[in-house]
Amino acid sequence: MYVIFLGAPGAGKGTQAAEVAKELKLAHIATGDMFRDAQKKGTALGLKAKEYMEKGKLVPDEITVAMLLERIAAPDCRQGVIFDGFPRTLAQTEALDKSLVKQSKAIDKVIFIKVAEEELLTRLSGRWICRQCQTPYHEVTSPPKIKGKCDRCSGELYQRDDDKPTTIKERLKVFFAQTAPLIDYYTRTGKLVEVNGVGTVEEVQKGILNALKRRSAGRK
Ligand code: AMP
Repeated sequence: MYVIFLGAPGAGKGTQAAEVAKELKLAHIATGDMFRDAQKKGTALGLKAKEYMEKGKLVPDEITVAMLLERIAAPDCRQGVIFDGFPRTLAQTEALDKSLVKQSKAIDKVIFIKVAEEELLTRLSGRWICRQCQTPYHEVTSPPKIKGKCDRCSGELYQRDDDKPTTIKERLKVFFAQTAPLIDYYTRTGKLVEVNGVGTVEEVQKGILNALKRRSAGRK
């Protein structure tokens, strides 16, 4: 099964994609995590991506698509993939479709995790993430038991550079301008299922798992 998790920054794509991938034994590909890893390692790709990420802009399609296509050729992707944060533009969508068609595969479903813009702003501005296991926390709505420490693995919590107020606004602007058109694209192809992204992690996950079982018939 090949599934795309679509949603604005802060919609909870990362958390949900990681959980659902584990549950369904699918590979989890998060292009944002791949770029952050490359930055940590100081590779040429990481340095290039940083220029865009710190401004809240998208990394150019040719760089992103090349990285993604190399990743989906790995053996762990043969049983299926949850794409988290990819595609983000129509050009990326086309590149992914083309590559899957070559392997006689196709995207089965697109889960659109819907959250209102005001809520996204609140979530992103108080977000802290574990450096080790990537579990997200929120200083008001879901704080860790011990400040600065992950409840799951005791890893150190940090705030992403691109979770600063001006960068958050730019990332949301980029989402509505460049990624939101994908909602219409996948609605037209009959693959999109909209899921309410407001609720506990478990509630949202239940909605997603139900949506994956249902036949996709566009927006609810
Ligand atoms: P994320 O962790 O998904 O919020 O991504 C963080 C940042 O990485 C984004 O704001 C972009 O700068 C970059 N990025 C991640 N995925 C993509 C993509 N599919 N296309 C272009 N840039 C991306």
